[in-house]
Amino acid sequence: MAKYIFVTGGVTSSLGKGIIASSLAKLLQARGLKVTIQKFDPYINVDPGTLNPYEHGECYVTDDGAETDLDLGHYERFLNIPTSQANNVTTGRIYQTVINKERQGDYLGKTVQVVPHITDEIKRRMMLLGNTGEFDLVITELGGTVGDIESLPFVEAVRQIQWELPEEDCIVVHLTLIPYLKAAKELKTKPTQHSVRMLSQEGVHPNIIVCRTEHPLNNELKRKIALFCNVKPEAVIEAIDASTIYEVPIKMLHEGLDVIVLKKLHIDKYGVPELGKWTTFLDKLKNPKNKISIGLIGKYVELQDAYKSILEAFVHAGSVNQCKVQIVNIHSEHINDTNVSEKLKGMDGLLVAPGFGSRGVEGKIEAVKFARENKLPFFGICLGMQMAVIEFARNVLGWADAHSTEMNSSTTRPVIALMEEQKKVKNKGGTMRLGAYPCSINDGSLAHCIYQKEIISERHRHRWEFNNNFINDFINSGMIPSGKNTESGLVEIIELANHPFFIGVQYHPELKSTVENPHPIFVSFVRAAKEHALALANDGVSKAAI
Ligand code: GLN
Repeated sequence: MAKYIFVTGGVTSSLGKGIIASSLAKLLQARGLKVTIQKFDPYINVDPGTLNPYEHGECYVTDDGAETDLDLGHYERFLNIPTSQANNVTTGRIYQTVINKERQGDYLGKTVQVVPHITDEIKRRMMLLGNTGEFDLVITELGGTVGDIESLPFVEAVRQIQWELPEEDCIVVHLTLIPYLKAAKELKTKPTQHSVRMLSQEGVHPNIIVCRTEHPLNNELKRKIALFCNVKPEAVIEAIDASTIYEVPIKMLHEGLDVIVLKKLHIDKYGVPELGKWTTFLDKLKNPKNKISIGLIGKYVELQDAYKSILEAFVHAGSVNQCKVQIVNIHSEHINDTNVSEKLKGMDGLLVAPGFGSRGVEGKIEAVKFARENKLPFFGICLGMQMAVIEFARNVLGWADAHSTEMNSSTTRPVIALMEEQKKVKNKGGTMRLGAYPCSINDGSLAHCIYQKEIISERHRHRWEFNNNFINDFINSGMIPSGKNTESGLVEIIELANHPFFIGVQYHPELKSTVENPHPIFVSFVRAAKEHALALANDGVSKAAI
């Protein structure tokens, strides 16, 4: 029987519930327990696949092809185990299931209501992973802030689960904010008291309060929070700002969050936390020996969350290389053939980001050209790989109007195109290649050298593909299709023969990079950029090691 931990948030959004939930999960996992995390989001979209990255950040994709909230990325990066569709549920999905059942007549003429029909479906989904027998503990993060109208049915479901289960099988951890008032030079507990009261009014009483704060909480303050929130002082946990999210598990360990959780859940069989790999990673991250600048060429660069997994994969790869990776956001719409060398000056490597639609693609193509001609380490992901193919077609093969049919449906050289079987599918969502696909890698290629494997599995999220009708022209001129889908033969990896590091991948390697398993392409790319920087330094161009 699994036990359940619910994580709610109060006072404001963006407190980092996902990081707290992931850190707690990491500590419990490090003590030998089998843990998973799931997220319940209160919005009506059935999944975040249709959400604009500007609004909701990156859409994270799981092995089974679910388009999910970016917090699932944190869960995987911290726990190093894959998540699935079951780990992310939205209000939209709950309602869709209930409405489908209603249409099929499953409710036998009954009036279908929020309570009990919607709440029952929420409860069923909340217990789904726990019922598989695979986990000792299921941590459920509730999206949104306590008091929001839309999160009410989720809170009610938690209340009912808590009522149904033995007391020691279900606890609620409430994350709140303790603001610091500069003028009064004081930390304030009132918003926390209010949010706990609000949660209690909805019938849920938190067992542990985790307090986000910019300043340390003294014992007196902790006692005050404990008294007014009706928990013991040991159940008030300080979550002070950390220099990196990866330090939060260590801070939570020192605060004893895992121990109080284990105590409340009456779990007495657990080991000392094994965090050796984690602390080595942190040590290397905090003590870099070199510094590099990577240009991230994208169109959503204003919003950091839009490229969340890419940025985190660089943190992992930077630690492996003991190298500080400074990401320089470069808006692709601002790059053109006259300013490209100015815009990309000082970069030790370029990453051309994924994306959809035509905005900013010409700038991306210019950036690829610059990296190819100047032998600058290059890494293209998804649309970034497609841009590398188009650039090569235009400037090496001399096909001036080469393009992707996503941006130009009448090009005479559709080097990136929809596959025949996709064209028949009318519903856009149905044509997306989503989730994990196997890929076989050419012996002796850069990709092989990076992965040290023949067969890999990587996650996809795109519609357009390299057009194999042109493959021989590319091969004859020096672009190597070094990885192909094992069944369809679709090109998944391209590289260049006469370049120190030039790789484009149709899939999203960033989604599989974790603290304990940094992604090999990111690790190699950072190494190549570091070598590039050191070579420049040796040539007398100033780029000093730190
Ligand atoms: N727009 C491109 C496609 O659909 C690339 C998508 C992406 O970069 N994720 O094929």
